[in-house]
Amino acid sequence: MIVGLGGLGVPAMLAAARGGVRRLGLVDPDPVELSNLARQVIYREDDIGRLKVDAAAERLARLAPALEIERFPLAIDATNASGTIGRFGFVVDATDSPAVKFLINDVCVAARIPFIYGGVLGMTGQAMSVVPGHTACLRCLFESPPDEADIASCRDAGIIGPVAGAIGFIQGAEAARWARGEALRFAGSIITYDGARGPRSRTAAVLARDGCICGAWKAANAIAAIQRLTGTP
Ligand SMILES: [Zn+2]
Repeated sequence: MIVGLGGLGVPAMLAAARGGVRRLGLVDPDPVELSNLARQVIYREDDIGRLKVDAAAERLARLAPALEIERFPLAIDATNASGTIGRFGFVVDATDSPAVKFLINDVCVAARIPFIYGGVLGMTGQAMSVVPGHTACLRCLFESPPDEADIASCRDAGIIGPVAGAIGFIQGAEAARWARGEALRFAGSIITYDGARGPRSRTAAVLARDGCICGAWKAANAIAAIQRLTGTP
């Protein structure tokens, strides 16, 4: 399931469809706007005013005729999140709302659904897969969403198209790995893509935070205890 069909969601859906995902849920409440066309390459000028879920589903059906597509023209919130997300086995967080990112995190952690977080700010983008109970979650990284003033300054910094393209593609490729039954590439590690220098990317391990709601720290502590007992590194 892809939540948000914008700068991250569009490249993510293309990578997922091309990568062998067979069933895809598309979630977005908004219509296509003129300002979307430069970054969100799947939409065309005559899509302006149509729901993104409809325009995207039509294009995807042509690209991947065997793909089963379900449309959810709604904004994910606390009342519908678990009912919507719970219908899918893997979630791509392609929203630009920190509050929704944390909601996706908490619903996926509670329902034990793996997902990939993605975020872009200016020329820098990040992505991290979360396997609930096994790897660190978004709340291990940041305990709570940033306050409104910080969010506003992030929006002012803007989103650079190619950076969102790179992160969205990484997210869609990860969903395809999950669909093919392969190991996730970014489970427990965060990739940072720096579009300003090169471009360049680096990947770093993310440790589960003690006491976090996701419980991954319990697994990490258990492994550390076994390593202490057995003397293995
Ligand atoms: Zn956590």
